[in-house]
Amino acid sequence: MKRKILLALAAAAVIGAVIFLRGAYRVPVLMYHSINQGAENSRLIVAPESFRSQMRFLREHGYRVISLDAYARLLREGKTPPGKSVVITFDDGYADNYTNAYPILKEYGFPATVFVVADWVGTKDLATWPQLTEMISNGLTVGSHSLTHCELTNIAPEQAAEEIIRSKRELEKKLGVPIRYFCYPCGFLSPALKEIVSTAGYQGACATKPEKYGMGSDVFAIRRIRVSRSADNLFIFWAQVSGYYNLLRAGGEKTE
Ligand SMILES: [Zn+2]
Repeated sequence: MKRKILLALAAAAVIGAVIFLRGAYRVPVLMYHSINQGAENSRLIVAPESFRSQMRFLREHGYRVISLDAYARLLREGKTPPGKSVVITFDDGYADNYTNAYPILKEYGFPATVFVVADWVGTKDLATWPQLTEMISNGLTVGSHSLTHCELTNIAPEQAAEEIIRSKRELEKKLGVPIRYFCYPCGFLSPALKEIVSTAGYQGACATKPEKYGMGSDVFAIRRIRVSRSADNLFIFWAQVSGYYNLLRAGGEKTE
């Protein structure tokens, strides 16, 4: 009798754990910045060979890299993406996304979205218009990361609206394609900003940690995981793409 009770308790614990883990699962939306050799101390830079091993890891372990658009569509329809789905995004639009990441993505046939700052295109070490156009014609997506990368919660609402609306318009004019996704600079977020982004005609928007702003993750505040130099260690990368990284990661992570 006692054994039966223990077995029943164990079964209940297993079922509870399964339900909990199912609820905790989130499609990992990876956030990269620069893919370059870079300085050792810059956590945001991932070396091209590490990026290549990460892409190989995804391929060899049966992950399905889906576009941000495909993922956002599933979110909007309330559907569950297939297991082991991963989304790849890049912030700021570095030229090395074109020179270093794009050839690897093309080799693996993986889609990705590059969020560019409209006023920065072609300046310093950032991708040029022809580079963006070429990436688009080979299946990558370009999204808006505002006009000037200012923190949208720290400026007047009209100015924030300008950053959101005019960047879309300018990118569309220059690239000749609809710009359907937005990315909040530094992840700064508010319900009012989400509203502006949605009214501007975007189909979705990427954040970093919406919970930092007391908000849940939805199609206009997609939570992402920052891939940094620490993911040179493929065990860390494995944890990041497991879908349970949100359970593991510590609070207070800086966002860019
Ligand atoms: Zn940024």
